[in-house]
Amino acid sequence: TGETQEWLQQYVDDWVSFYRKHTNDGSVASYIPILQEADPNDLGITIIGKNGVSVRSGDTHRPFTLQSISKAITFIVACMERGVSYMLNRVDVEPTGEAFNSIMHLEMKPVKKPLNPFNNAGAITVTSSLPGETSAERLEPVFQLLERMLGYRPRLNVDVYESERDSSTRNRAIGYYLLEMDFLESDLDVTLETYFKQCSIDVTIDDLARLGMVLANDGMDPKTGGEIIPRQVARIAKVLMLTCGMYDASGKFATYVGIPAKSGVSGGILAAVPPRVRDETMPFTDGCGIGVYGPALGEKGNSIAGIRLLRHIATQWDLSIF
Ligand code: GLU
Repeated sequence: TGETQEWLQQYVDDWVSFYRKHTNDGSVASYIPILQEADPNDLGITIIGKNGVSVRSGDTHRPFTLQSISKAITFIVACMERGVSYMLNRVDVEPTGEAFNSIMHLEMKPVKKPLNPFNNAGAITVTSSLPGETSAERLEPVFQLLERMLGYRPRLNVDVYESERDSSTRNRAIGYYLLEMDFLESDLDVTLETYFKQCSIDVTIDDLARLGMVLANDGMDPKTGGEIIPRQVARIAKVLMLTCGMYDASGKFATYVGIPAKSGVSGGILAAVPPRVRDETMPFTDGCGIGVYGPALGEKGNSIAGIRLLRHIATQWDLSIF
């Protein structure tokens, strides 16, 4: 009803202004120079429910790049293009407990494959499995899937791509390591170019909320019920989001928030809240997608105010899947 909608809006507005002060506890990513240009005090959230109810608050129109959130998308696309069992043979599904760009586990014997698709070693391996010769060909199914979920074709942010490419010593090191271990399925340079580009796709929090809604809805279009992502692939993506989606703070996020989510260093968080039936009076019991943007990051690389805002809302609305 209109009254509920108004109440929701007021509630979310209040907590966004409250947590905006917390952006001062973090800082924007600086290892890629262009990311430093983000406004550290930005904070915004979009929540899109299955039944069309949605709430938007704070800095909702700021475009930002997918960064690590793209790892969830390319994993989904690779599973759809190559098959789930094929991909699970190439990359494991175990949390690492290490930083996203760590290469530690690659040295632990016996290494049969990278530990999961959401750390850089695993993500670059997944990207190497995308079919196609050039980076444009490989990203085509990624753009197509995004377009099906968003209703428009997002664009590549060339400035971010170039900045990312020109400050990529660690990712090149990881790439060479993977090459040496024989984990890559295609040319290293094309694979890295594809990886930097997938990280540099511009989105807004509305977009993230839409993606989250499709995942929450088991891969089906919330409006038409048509399949966008096979159910099994959507399920595995959510498992990975829950266990590995928030870097080496994934356990804490699962404990205090309890929602499958994936973050990126530009400050975005994509969250998928499945339907739940514990308490009919709570908002969004049919499930919802949530997009958050807050570029000031905490020490593990997640949006500091974004996580606190999500934790607050998830606690108040009983959004945890557990
Ligand atoms: N482009 C980033 C990198 O690989 C993605 C990092 C992230 O969002 O975690 O360095």
